[in-house]
Amino acid sequence: MTPENTPAPAIDPTLAELLASAEQAAQHSYSPYSGFRVGAALRLATGEIVTGTNVENVSYGLTICAERAALVRAVAQFGPAVRIAAVAVANLNNSPSPPCGACRQVLAEFISPDAPVLFPAADGLRSMPFSDLLPLAFDMKLK
Ligand code: ZN
Repeated sequence: MTPENTPAPAIDPTLAELLASAEQAAQHSYSPYSGFRVGAALRLATGEIVTGTNVENVSYGLTICAERAALVRAVAQFGPAVRIAAVAVANLNNSPSPPCGACRQVLAEFISPDAPVLFPAADGLRSMPFSDLLPLAFDMKLK
């Protein structure tokens, strides 16, 4: 994310910090096939920030998104009880990049429904509660 597309409306300072972490993570993107450089930052309920970036693969299908990379890292680092309090996604391509469907479903197991998710949308940065991003996540408890 460049200063040119930083939104005019001020974002919550803690989300701004998270966004900066996501932007930093995007610098490490392994994206030789698409050139789409994405970073994600998760704020855990404990206050820790864990980042991830997209890692592409020549097979394409084995590519992992920044959001899932961050989540896998968080579980590896802090254990399976991690809870996500906020998410920020950034890319260095000045393009919209809301979390994809796969990442939304994977995040659903670890995130609070009211956790804000900040991402570049077509009309600029957007923040919305996770439950608005994935209102009907697959869950074995659904009836
Ligand atoms: Zn994804």
